[in-house]
Formats: sequence, C-alpha cells, structure tokens
Amino acid sequence: TNKSIEKKIGSLKPTLTDIDSSVVWMIKKDLHRKLPNLFDDVKAWLNVVHTYYPGSDTMHNFLRDLIHFMNNRTTLSSNELKNYIDTISVIKLPEVKFDHCNGSDTSKRGYTCSLWLLFHSMIVKQAILHEQNLLPSNVKPSDMILSIREYVRRFFLCDECAKHFLNMTSNAENEINSFKENVLYLWRGHNKVNKRLRGEQISNDPAWPKVPFPTKEQCNSCVREIDENNDALEYDENETYNYLKDYYDLQNITNQKNL
Ligand code: FAD
Repeated sequence: TNKSIEKKIGSLKPTLTDIDSSVVWMIKKDLHRKLPNLFDDVKAWLNVVHTYYPGSDTMHNFLRDLIHFMNNRTTLSSNELKNYIDTISVIKLPEVKFDHCNGSDTSKRGYTCSLWLLFHSMIVKQAILHEQNLLPSNVKPSDMILSIREYVRRFFLCDECAKHFLNMTSNAENEINSFKENVLYLWRGHNKVNKRLRGEQISNDPAWPKVPFPTKEQCNSCVREIDENNDALEYDENETYNYLKDYYDLQNITNQKNL
C-alpha cells in the first residue's frame, strides 16, 4: 500500500554497503563459528565469493589476502580467524551497515536480506561473464547454485531456512543447463520463499510486504499478468532476466540513497 511504501527506510536498490555487509557478517558469524572443523569448506566458499563477488575493492582485497593466509595453513581456529581480522590483516573490515536491507527495526531485514542480494549478484555476475566469454570453459551453469546450497547447508544460522532451501534446490543440478537459467532459477526460488512467508509475522517487515518480485512498477515489461491486488501472476522471463541483470549489476549498484 502507499502507506507502507511511505514508511520505507533505506534505498530502493541494493548498494555496495549491503553486499559488503553480508560478507562481513558471514565471515564473523556464519563461517567463524564452524572453524576449525569445516576449514576446507570455509576456504572453498571464500574462493567462490572472491571470484564472483561484485562488492567493493576493499572487501575484494580483504578476501584475497584471507584466502592467501588460509592457503598457507592446514587449519584455522575461530580465535585465530578473529586475531587475523583484528590484528594481522592490513585491510580492516568495514562495519556492518545496511541501506536497502535496513529494516524498520533491528530485528527485521538485515543479514538475510543482504545474503539474498549477495547470492543474486554473484549469479548475475557469472552470467554476465559468460556472455562476455570471460568464464573458464570448465565452469558449469549449475556450479554456483550447488556452492550456494552447500553454504546454506553447512553455515547458514537459520536451520528452518536451510531446510526449506535444501528441499527447494534438491534437484538443481538437473534443472539448470544455462547461466541464464541459473539467474532465473534463483529468482523463481526466491519468489517461492516470498510467497511462503507472506503473512507470517516473525521475519516480515511491514514496510516491505512480501510480493512477487519485480512488481509492475519496478518493471512494466517483465509482468505479463497481474491479479486484483496488482501482484504479478505471470512474467516474461526474457524481460525479467534483463531486469535482474540490470538490478544486480555492479555498475548499477550505487551507494546513493534513493529515498
Ligand atoms: P528478502 O526476501 O530478504 O529480499 C531481499 C531483496 O531481494 C528484496 O528487497 C529485493 O530487492 C530482492 N528480491 C526479492 N525477491 C526477489 C526475487 N524473487 N528475485 C530476485 N531478487 C529479489 N525466513 C523465514 O522466516 N523462513 C524461511 O524458511 C526462510 N528461508 C530463507 C532462505 C534463504 C536462503 C535466505 C537467504 C533467507 C531465508 N529467510 C527465511 C529470510 C527471508 O527470505 C527474508 O530474507 C527476510 O524475511 C527479510 O525479507 P526482506 O523483506 O528483507 O526481503
């Protein structure tokens, strides 16, 4: 409704601050608590993020140095990671701050919102690299969603979310055969989650109602059919793919506040 839109805080589009914050939170919380046991899995995931992460140069360089540090070791305890972040690393991590993902209060939006943005933006970046013939030929279209699935399985703090996500993506390797399809696969999946959570009070921010994304206002040409509430019922997937590439492309992710 207009009222809820008026109440919106933060920016309408994802920003670098959002995705940088997702990685900082991820390292300090989700990955940190699984060390030293899942050392190799932490390293593998950080490599994926470093390769496709469309965030700031600062975070990019931080990840490069951390991976280098880990490559020279056979294990790392959570205290050693903390010590690396606080004292060894020359590059200091930015503080966690949300723009687009800033909620009406601190219990709303935040990390889970920024994690979605990170996943979408990495998948889009990979599809764009593929279109530009810049991807190594051994990278398969479903690789990224499988890495995301492993991250969610092993590290994501929300058990219920992980259970649903693993269930939803259990056949991903057989359903995805192009990089474009990969972008659309996560988009469809996210809309399924939005639909399931609609009306639930726990994680929902009243200022950000769970509606099919993108709305007709966001992308007129994406939406083929709407229902009586103006919610999208059917999408043109080619138009939606182009919209997602634009929405999640680094060039278009700015630090400008739109509201
Ligand atoms: P989010 O749903 O977090 O979306 C963030 C942003 O992504 C939106 O603001 C918009 O810019 C963009 N976006 C929205 N829809 C799409 C789309 N279809 N395609 C591309 N971009 C889109 N919470 C639960 O309570 N139960 C669960 O089972 C659960 N499972 C989750 C599973 C995963 C993998 C993740 C990352 C989160 C899960 N969450 C779950 C959290 C929940 O999905 C939201 O992140 C949370 O409710 C905050 O919602 P939000 O309004 O900030 O928007």
